[in-house]
Amino acid sequence: MSKPDSDLPNDSMTTPEGSSLTMTRLQPAEGGNGGGDATNHHGLQHQDSLGSAGSPQSWSPDANPDLAPALFQAGWRKFWSKREKRPYYFNKNTNESLWEMPPLDSGPDLLSDPLGINMSPSDIRLSRASTDTPVVMSAKRRASGELMGSPPKRPMFNYSPFWNFDLPSNVIMYERSPRKILPPHPDVEMLRAQLLSKLRQTYQELCQTREGIDAPVESFNRWLLERQVINKGEDWLLPSDCNPVISQSMYREVMNDIPFKLVKARYIQDIRKQLLSYAQAARKMIECRNTSSASRKNVKWNVEETFTWLRSRHSASYEDYLERLAHLKRQCQPHLTEAAKSSVEGICTKMFTLSCDSARKVREKHLEILKESNIEEPDAPPELTTKRKVMCYPIQTMVPCPRLPVIQHQTDQETTQLTYGTEVLKINTSHLHKLEQLYRIFTRDDPKFDNFLARVFCLLRRYKTYFGIKNSEGISLQGALPIQVFECLHRVFGVTFECFASPLNCFFKQYCSAFPDTDCYFGSRGPILDFHPISGSFEANPPFSEELMEAMVDHFESLLSETLEPLSFIVFIPEWRDPPTEALIRLESSRFKKKQVVMPAYEHEYRHGFQHLCSKQDMNVKSSHGTLVVFLQNEAGFARWGPTSERIQELLLSCRPKDSV
Ligand code: SAH
Repeated sequence: MSKPDSDLPNDSMTTPEGSSLTMTRLQPAEGGNGGGDATNHHGLQHQDSLGSAGSPQSWSPDANPDLAPALFQAGWRKFWSKREKRPYYFNKNTNESLWEMPPLDSGPDLLSDPLGINMSPSDIRLSRASTDTPVVMSAKRRASGELMGSPPKRPMFNYSPFWNFDLPSNVIMYERSPRKILPPHPDVEMLRAQLLSKLRQTYQELCQTREGIDAPVESFNRWLLERQVINKGEDWLLPSDCNPVISQSMYREVMNDIPFKLVKARYIQDIRKQLLSYAQAARKMIECRNTSSASRKNVKWNVEETFTWLRSRHSASYEDYLERLAHLKRQCQPHLTEAAKSSVEGICTKMFTLSCDSARKVREKHLEILKESNIEEPDAPPELTTKRKVMCYPIQTMVPCPRLPVIQHQTDQETTQLTYGTEVLKINTSHLHKLEQLYRIFTRDDPKFDNFLARVFCLLRRYKTYFGIKNSEGISLQGALPIQVFECLHRVFGVTFECFASPLNCFFKQYCSAFPDTDCYFGSRGPILDFHPISGSFEANPPFSEELMEAMVDHFESLLSETLEPLSFIVFIPEWRDPPTEALIRLESSRFKKKQVVMPAYEHEYRHGFQHLCSKQDMNVKSSHGTLVVFLQNEAGFARWGPTSERIQELLLSCRPKDSV
């Protein structure tokens, strides 16, 4: 079903559309459910735009005699397109518009609740979509007549406390060509997950066998983030084309735990134990590594001295032990680093080589699946020759989507399970609604939602793979600002866009994310470092990867220096000063910095990194570190959204945990 012109942009400041017939999905207008920029069309504008065939009376059933009562009741109205000189249909409840008469359906309203996930469990039955492509709804089946005459159920998400997709974007960018991105497929995603999980396991084994340590917690995830900054390969998750091959972040983190991982000790006996263990591990390591005799002598001497000190100081304080440990580490670490250098570099190289192999296997499988559907990989699109300013819009892809397999889905009140083969993925039902809403706004190649579940499956599988195997992994890399902070940022500083997000944790419907292939159906504008806005007000809460945060600051600075139009970035990063991260240093000394404020540890919160899985009670978590908020703005951005003291006060108030307000 095509969309009527009323929903598409018609002036030079809107998004491009229809420029290529090969495009499989177009998302220019965001004219869907209650959103879009000022040029988009909402109910009122449809009323205004009524031509000869239309009049305000169109809102009464009598004025729509050829509309079935059920369609009328579902919010559908018939209008006349002056431009196309033909009628079209507009749904005032969902803002959906269609050229053709909407299908009459006795089941759940496909357009507003294609999966029937707003139905009570006893209502769940085979959806109408399942007759076209078999999207099987679980639970019992009901005779179609049973629902006849009952009004279609409306989604509950006209207002959700967790996100607000009614807020239109103020972000302007240059028009972008569609991308040659391979459309996700559950089989490919499962293979990617399997290979990445193998990679994690190999990393642990390499750290154990070669260095006698556990792989540092989250260092694999930070390796992925660091590699993403420089990866030119075609897989969005598995690094495969990076220069240099040896990752600085992986090298640094492994080396930091050699010969023994030191942790923050609470009690005196713990810190004493750590000093002893470090000394023993240093001695053991230096004895079996190929290193200079001077290094060996130096380490051994310091270790012996520590043992002597330990024997003689029975009444040493916590601070004495801490100081002694720092001293020992200072003395030994350069020699130990030298001794372990080639071995740790070997781990980094091996990990990268294995990742390249995995990326190749995934790609081969992907192309094979596409080939089965007679889909050839198209040539890269030609570069756009003219620069056209447009409202920002999601990544457009140009590779057609193959037929996607059936995904089972079962909703049990707050949680929904998606099943494909042996794989079961969970999501909070509220977040499934959220994805449904984003999909409706942004996806044009699937009006019946035939591919919705398979695409949600791929998305969930991707993020689960990204987070890691162990439950707590990935949490700290996905924590989001609380809702009231986003609301304040929008109200006070005109923010409408998140620079770092996922479809699962975004608050606005405009956002950048790591995975354009899985996320574009849900509105992603792609990775932030590939995104070049000219104007707009942004929030940035990056995952805590030093390299990514550093690249982010450089990126923002170059964007700010390239435009005279209002541009503003409000950046939230951890206040790590011991030692300060490069990103923090660069932010604080940036020529675009207009203001910085600190939110002290435990006096503000983040939303749970797995908000799509955790319960409502666990949603907000007090931050154990301070957060530095830095305003980077050009002059026009400062004039429009400048951090005046009243605005800053309002922001700080919104950041205070609810229980302390
Ligand atoms: N959107 C929330 C949560 C941010 S958590 C907020 O702004 O508060 C950081 C998010 O950045 C994660 O969801 C992570 O997947 C995403 N991310 C990682 N790399 C990215 C990249 N290169 N571009 C954009 N987002 C990225």
